[in-house]
Amino acid sequence: MNISQDVLAQFNHLEKSGALDQLGELRRENRELERIITDAAMLVSYTDVNSMLDFIISKLLDHFIPQFLGFIVLPPRGRGIRQFCFRNLKPSDDVIDPLYYEIFRERFNKNPMYARFEEIAEELGPDLFGKDFHNLQPERIFPMFGIGGLYGIVIMGKKLIGDSYSELEEKYVDRMIRFLSVSIQNGLHYESSITDPKTGLFTHDFFVRRLDEAIAHTYRRNSTAGVLLMDVDHFKRFNDNWGHVMGDEALIALAGVLQKSIRGEDCAARFGGEEFSVLVAECNESKLMKVAERIRIAVSEIRIPYPPTGTDLTLTISIGARMVRGCGKQTSLMLLGDADKALYRAKSNGRNQSQLYTTGLLGMAKVLRQH
Ligand code: GH3
Ligand code: MG
Ligand code: MG
Repeated sequence: MNISQDVLAQFNHLEKSGALDQLGELRRENRELERIITDAAMLVSYTDVNSMLDFIISKLLDHFIPQFLGFIVLPPRGRGIRQFCFRNLKPSDDVIDPLYYEIFRERFNKNPMYARFEEIAEELGPDLFGKDFHNLQPERIFPMFGIGGLYGIVIMGKKLIGDSYSELEEKYVDRMIRFLSVSIQNGLHYESSITDPKTGLFTHDFFVRRLDEAIAHTYRRNSTAGVLLMDVDHFKRFNDNWGHVMGDEALIALAGVLQKSIRGEDCAARFGGEEFSVLVAECNESKLMKVAERIRIAVSEIRIPYPPTGTDLTLTISIGARMVRGCGKQTSLMLLGDADKALYRAKSNGRNQSQLYTTGLLGMAKVLRQH
């Protein structure tokens, strides 16, 4: 037997024994693992949950399209469960009853392995799942584990095209979800560390950090930005008249208006109590005052239903504005102090108005006369 015959014989032998198939399978799995590790490294670099989900969706698109994909998570703090649903990997407004989270939580705490929905339904009793849940046509349910145990579940519907999921496909999703779970929990913790629990706006600490960045930015670019400081008018009276629960409702509605009134690069925060601050990026004086007035008018249009009398409650705010200039001498403390002076002027001028802090003799004279 010459060398090439020998090699051929060995090859045939390996092929017959199934070793080559196994090698191919191992190579495929290795490639898959390498891909997952690269993807996981990307995932942990995101800080916000939506970017993480967008990333996962883009990865899934390379494999298959589930007709439904739902993430239900219990954040470390805040108002109950949060959901992110997708139809054919596009965001959808499906709402899943939080009851199902509880049902799956119990199941995965006993048995942490992902499973086919049918198996779980059989295990727990099919009556537990209503028509609303069956309508999602769930195929696989995955647990989301983080520090402190299970905090979420993933519901994956059937494939848009093709048969049921292969073992390799479900393993891939399971592995990605394990990494995603840690990332999302980190993201939720980060989010809660920089947001105020009552209003969902940023905390004052975070705001000051953003303001410091804005000051540095205006200095580097010789550009301008603006700060607004606002305070609810006669809020003590509001609480006394309608109660603190309604007072809280008012603050939450006000926060909603702030969030709607600003651009993505701006930042709205709760300064404390019934005081709020807004950082308006890249603006001049007239733009800053336009934003202030838009917010002030939108707040005055808030209507809070008050069931005992069947009437709507209203509120107003006063705003102090201060420009951030690229002169390099401003500090966040100074700017907020100046905005507070302008706010004081808005209050003493009759409230429900915006005032711009002005430097120069005329401006200073105006401010000083108030004290
Ligand atoms: P002014 O127009 O001068 O600002 O009058 P004011 O009554 O708003 O001012 P003051 O500082 O005397 O009162 C602020 C009130 O805000 C007192 C406090 O009870 C209320 N407050 C602060 N934080 C909260 C909150 O989280 N919820 C509720 N309901 N009230 C709050
Ligand atoms: Mg106040
Ligand atoms: Mg007030």
